[in-house]
Amino acid sequence: MNSELQDAVAIDGPAGSGKSSVAKRIADAKGFLYVDTGAMYRAVALKAMRLGVDMEDPAAMLRVAETSEIGFDQTGTRILLDGEDVSSDIRSPEVAKQVKCAARVPEIRALMVTLQQAMVNTRPVVMEGRDITTVVLPRARWKFFLTASPEARATRRHTEMLAAGRDVSLQDILDDINHRDASDYQVGPMKDARDRALAGDGIVYLDTSDLSPDEVVAAILDSMN
Ligand code: C5P
Repeated sequence: MNSELQDAVAIDGPAGSGKSSVAKRIADAKGFLYVDTGAMYRAVALKAMRLGVDMEDPAAMLRVAETSEIGFDQTGTRILLDGEDVSSDIRSPEVAKQVKCAARVPEIRALMVTLQQAMVNTRPVVMEGRDITTVVLPRARWKFFLTASPEARATRRHTEMLAAGRDVSLQDILDDINHRDASDYQVGPMKDARDRALAGDGIVYLDTSDLSPDEVVAAILDSMN
């Protein structure tokens, strides 16, 4: 896998850090495939919600993940759940609230990591998530941890959602971000990614609170040259 990882960009960061839009733009600029790993955990949660399974039951959640086909279309921009394009459905506030029920199950994480690692075998990628720099692609040539203050992240997500025609209050988004930060830093490997980035351990730490998207993209592209 070593040679492929020469062309891999790994980006981690909390909810609303801007990593999705930045990762997409880096992928476009470099001609790499963009992979949003959060969409995969969201797809598992969506399926469990649709089936009405007990989301607090890790074994039931694992069965859902094991019996689902989760992947992307050829452009990497649409998430497919059992062949159905669920790119819009996975963005609902309900899914955002429940996604931790999928993300905290170690066996589900192992399944997703295997699928994600298989993707770098075929093409250069920009992959973003919570554990990409540390678990999925620790040997990626370029690794970044993107973050911003909770308020800056909530405001950005609010603007995005309004633009997408979703009527959600800023306070609800801020609550969701704080709630997900608490669980992501607690149950997931994101804390490890942040701590290593802060320690300068091969992961570039970027606080984007006061940076425009253009400035973040420029900073990342610069450091890749
Ligand atoms: O990036 P996004 O906000 O769509 O991710 C949804 C959730 O999926 C996160 O809050 C996190 O709990 C989980 N996730 C994860 N590992 C990843 C990507 C996402 O645990 N690599």
